[in-house]
Amino acid sequence: MSAIPFDTTALFIAGRWQGAAGGGTLPLTNPSDGSSLAQIARGQAADVDAAVAAAQAALQGDWGALTAAERGRLLLKMSGLVLAQADELARLEALDVGKPLKQGRADAVALARYLEFYGGAADKVHGETIPFANGYTAFTLREPHGVTAHIVPWNYPMQIIGRSVGAALAMGNACVLKPAEEACLTALAFARIAQAAGLPAGALNVVPGLGEEAGAALSAHPGVRHVSFTGSVAVGALIQAAAAKNAVPVTLELGGKSPQLVFADADLEAALPFLVNAGIQNAGQTCSAASRILVQRPVFDTVVQRMAERYRALRVGPALDDPDVGPVISSRQQEIVEGYLALVRDSGLHIAAQAPLPPGLPSGGCWVRPTLVADVNPAHRLAQEEIFGPVQALIPFDDEAEALAIANGTPYGLVAGVWTRDGSRALRLARRLQCGQVFVNNYGAGGGIELPFGGVKHSGHGREKGFEALYGFSSLKTVAIKHD
Ligand code: NAD
Repeated sequence: MSAIPFDTTALFIAGRWQGAAGGGTLPLTNPSDGSSLAQIARGQAADVDAAVAAAQAALQGDWGALTAAERGRLLLKMSGLVLAQADELARLEALDVGKPLKQGRADAVALARYLEFYGGAADKVHGETIPFANGYTAFTLREPHGVTAHIVPWNYPMQIIGRSVGAALAMGNACVLKPAEEACLTALAFARIAQAAGLPAGALNVVPGLGEEAGAALSAHPGVRHVSFTGSVAVGALIQAAAAKNAVPVTLELGGKSPQLVFADADLEAALPFLVNAGIQNAGQTCSAASRILVQRPVFDTVVQRMAERYRALRVGPALDDPDVGPVISSRQQEIVEGYLALVRDSGLHIAAQAPLPPGLPSGGCWVRPTLVADVNPAHRLAQEEIFGPVQALIPFDDEAEALAIANGTPYGLVAGVWTRDGSRALRLARRLQCGQVFVNNYGAGGGIELPFGGVKHSGHGREKGFEALYGFSSLKTVAIKHD
């Protein structure tokens, strides 16, 4: 039996599976061994046109006719199907992304939870009546934008589909999803689940393809009324410019250089697993990876030593073996990360620890050694640029003011963590850190589907996750009735 139990070369448009209009395909590679995994459809502008037309028809047809409660029930049904297939989805993600099985399964469970959360919320979003002038009744309506575009990256396909497509469907939009060309098996599996749950044709359309072809056509399409983009800063700017021509809103979930701040009074035992995991999870290819660890000087050496012990014990290996750290997504990404490791050596930086690469790793896999670098100057490129690999920079600081300046001193502002037993300091920093989420004495809150997420500065704008996403995926209409 093939490793992939469905036809990967088809696009999903108007409830039907069909080849790309141009007939082209693109190769998917297994990053754990470099083997050829499958071919996917190479969607282009004509396919995007068809997908947008299908979504528009769905809004005018069966999908648009559903009540909010009926939409919610469909999402709940999809949630159950995702959960039932969580192991298989994790296997697909392991093959496609190189994501260790346990981490892929957590993504599948998160996708199910997003669908549950937004399914439950679908009929609980409403407008308000507004006290206004005598002789008027004024109220607001929350309406879907219409056709929404969802352009997602390869690192967390299931979670990002859950938070953006889940919220958009709950509000009654019809979606066109463009997964990343490096990894889109779970996006295709998700479309099959939507079909099996009975989602009306055209409510969800999936068009795999290259960013500069299918992605560019989708972000510039005049029939699209909202664009949700998760990916790099450079492409985010292109998306916003394209959407601006049609005057449509965009949500940009971009990169990060997120810090965790460890104060001398912190519970180090509690902090340690979070300090390391937030750097190596998904081989460091996480937008909210804690790639900078800022440590107050009295405990700096202890933290370096304790993190180094954990690094040396990390198991690196093929994703299906469920290691701590799998390969990175591609040989291109491997080269990028190796470029930063060469920079570390050339700059004479101190490597505190590296995880070993075990003998016998498949030679075609995209392996990089998880690397902990100590005493990094906050202005160094290693402490400023998003690496997107399992590399963490440790930076010492003396006091709270210095820690804050370092934490805020990059172009990014996605997430921050603060480890301290001083409640006043935690509250002060929570307000002063420039980012979209602050975690005190934890990092990531276990995924926190209910917690609005997004960035400031180059990390983007707009919020997904939580109830807030439902406002982003809808438009407010004000009605004022004069009646005397
Ligand atoms: P990328 O920007 O290269 O690609 C993301 C998506 O955009 C892909 O589907 C790609 O095909 C598409 N794309 C590429 N060029 C395009 C174009 N010209 N027009 C339209 N679409 C285009 O990003 P990547 O390298 O795949 O992902 C890594 C980046 O994503 C990192 O910077 C990471 O921090 C970021 N990210 C952010 C979040 C978040 O929630 N903030 C989550 C995950 C990843």
